[in-house]
Amino acid sequence: MSRQALSDGCGGYGGCAIRARLASRPVPAEPKGSEAPEGQASKRRPGRPSRVTGPTSYPSNGVRMTSTAAQPRRALVIRGGWEGHAPVETTDLFLPFLRDQGFEVTVSDSLDAYLDADALAATDLVVQCWTMGEITPEQTEGLAAAVRAGTGLAGWHGGICDAFRANTRYQWLTGGQFVMHPERWLDHTVDVRPDRADHPVVAGLPGQIPLHTEQYLVHTDPSVDVLATTTFSATDQDVPEESRGVTCPAVWTRRWGAGRVFVSTIGHKPDDLTDDTVRTLTERGLLWAAR
Ligand SMILES: [Zn+2]
Repeated sequence: MSRQALSDGCGGYGGCAIRARLASRPVPAEPKGSEAPEGQASKRRPGRPSRVTGPTSYPSNGVRMTSTAAQPRRALVIRGGWEGHAPVETTDLFLPFLRDQGFEVTVSDSLDAYLDADALAATDLVVQCWTMGEITPEQTEGLAAAVRAGTGLAGWHGGICDAFRANTRYQWLTGGQFVMHPERWLDHTVDVRPDRADHPVVAGLPGQIPLHTEQYLVHTDPSVDVLATTTFSATDQDVPEESRGVTCPAVWTRRWGAGRVFVSTIGHKPDDLTDDTVRTLTERGLLWAAR
């Protein structure tokens, strides 16, 4: 299938802003004996909408959300690819958060950053926002090796799970690949799996996250830990017949050697990511993936 035929097609229809619908919601109380809350959500800034705040260290699975290392952690933000996903604007949304969390942040618009093994080894989190495009085998292996050694990898929407479509090695690393979205933005929900609701990335969030944006159909690796799913309408004629009524992963994590990978399919447009709940979900995912 041609690149054109596989094109995301995201930009060809009318914008319809998602509204911040969710006020601040409580997060679970820290249980007795747990560590002091680490990695508090970033400081509220003037003009920034309220969002879910609170500890990002949860008792689930023994997962810690921040490093205890004395040295600042390092984050590498890789952005580029298809402009329809606003790679600069969307990643800019999270730079202050990462810095608030103690990361030294480097931003690169070149996939050659994946060729610098020493720099990647010293990087605790890679945030990638690079829709479609092409990656060389050497760049892929550089990234995969770094994650295997413990560097975290995280991202949202096409910037991580619709990148480098021809590269199955990369898709294996991320654990999932976009394959379709209905042509128009649909009202739909992303639903936290009840049996994963205590995972630190989704703990305390609403069980259903209402959205009006692209709804992604993805194919995922059998090994991923699915935290939330989305179900396509069984009756909407704008959902391709083959996918009506189906449920597929929408948020997941995976392990890759010593590294952690976090993928959220939400984030076609910047105001998807400024929704209180989506932003918190995404921020937590970044922290969860970081070494
Ligand atoms: Zn999109």
